[in-house]
Amino acid sequence: MTILADPLPGGRPGDVGRARALSGELSARGVHGIVLAYVDTAGVGRIKTVPVTALASAAAWGVGMSPVFDTFLANDDIVTTDVLGSPDGDLRLYPALDRLVALTAQPGWAWAPVDRVTQDGERHPGCSRTFLRRIVADASRAHGLAFKAAVEIEWAVGLDSAPAGEFVPAATGPAYGAIRQVELSEYLAELLAACAAQNVDVDQVHPEYAPGQFEISVGAVDPVAAADRSVLVRQTIRAVARRHGLRVSFSPAVAARGVGNGGHVHLSAWRDGVNLHTGGDRRYGMTADAEAFTAGVLAHLPALTAVTAPSPASRLRLRPSQWAGVFTAWGLETRECALRLVRGTAGRRAEQANLEVKPVDLAANPYLALGCVIAAGLDGLAAGATLPEETTGDPARLGAEEAARRGVRRLPASLDEAVAAFRADAVLRGALGPVLADAVTAVREGEIRAVDGLDDAGIAAAYRWVY
Ligand code: GLU
Ligand code: MG
Repeated sequence: MTILADPLPGGRPGDVGRARALSGELSARGVHGIVLAYVDTAGVGRIKTVPVTALASAAAWGVGMSPVFDTFLANDDIVTTDVLGSPDGDLRLYPALDRLVALTAQPGWAWAPVDRVTQDGERHPGCSRTFLRRIVADASRAHGLAFKAAVEIEWAVGLDSAPAGEFVPAATGPAYGAIRQVELSEYLAELLAACAAQNVDVDQVHPEYAPGQFEISVGAVDPVAAADRSVLVRQTIRAVARRHGLRVSFSPAVAARGVGNGGHVHLSAWRDGVNLHTGGDRRYGMTADAEAFTAGVLAHLPALTAVTAPSPASRLRLRPSQWAGVFTAWGLETRECALRLVRGTAGRRAEQANLEVKPVDLAANPYLALGCVIAAGLDGLAAGATLPEETTGDPARLGAEEAARRGVRRLPASLDEAVAAFRADAVLRGALGPVLADAVTAVREGEIRAVDGLDDAGIAAAYRWVY
């Protein structure tokens, strides 16, 4: 389970001794450095590294890093809020030791996600991992709920030898085709081996629809661990690729047209060890709580996309009829509704039933995305919300009248619209707290300015290699 305790100056109980032992074991295995990883508000992974010998000191006192990265844009420009974006100040990065792994595809390195605290040892209100830990802890305290989550990862594999900035698919076989697996046989096998060595249980890896696109899905774990995994698996996919002359992109839109890379979230709510998404008396076996939770997510979707699909490139992906789920609709096992109910296989529903949220991509900070989806669901739960009529087939085919009758609306087609919906959403803003909520709006508005005057091809190019 996740360590839900906040970091403490001097170290969480037991952490320093554990870090000392770990650093000895890692050194003996040839590890020299530890990557301390977090994700910024724009969705870009940022890091510091320390020598393995400094692990115990990092566990005790953290490692310094500026808070300015909270308002970095994906192009490394800096925006400001009333409290963030200044060159002043410093934070301490505390590694989560229970997530520390030696990186198989990067010999000499280990990796750990971090929580960020102030120099005074207080929670940093801009820390997205701390935010998600808090949401999970509050749900447990207020509702007796626990969650299981997984983030699907889609990515495009290109040739490293491609002309600068360009994407040339490294596999040319058909979508979901046997040829692609043969073309990248060694790469995929090494990826599976690396995941296994790093304690990530993989459900599936398969060729996807778009040129050179693949997908990996991993087992569901508690939300903080799921977000950590999403970061670790992407680091691994990239590092293994490099050893094979390949370059990968997790951008929502590697190309301006066509199917993009999603980062669908699977989530289930549990109480006393029982999955609430099955065995109930509501549609498809949902319990009343699962229906209310799902209805809460549905109601907040337009605003949620400011967090779950945060990049100008996200809007290139969020187009109808591409399985990205761009309508405020839900359905059973349907791939065009934003919310897909996954009932699971007969005989295994108690463990498998879950809610899939599709308008999520890998430009999203996974901690913010999971925390906000859970906050939206809890809002529905507290209100005892109910779901409207379900949708089957592609909502894009519904006539205007029928769509209006069912409350099926297109999700924001521009980042401006998403930001406006987010600004108006007191529940999400309240869950994030003012510092993070303002960081989200400032960074999104900065991204909008950054692509001013660019056409779709220019936007795809600008974000192709940053995620
Ligand atoms: N690539 C699609 C997306 O952008 C998802 C395809 C699938 O259903 O796996 O979300
Ligand atoms: Mg897929």
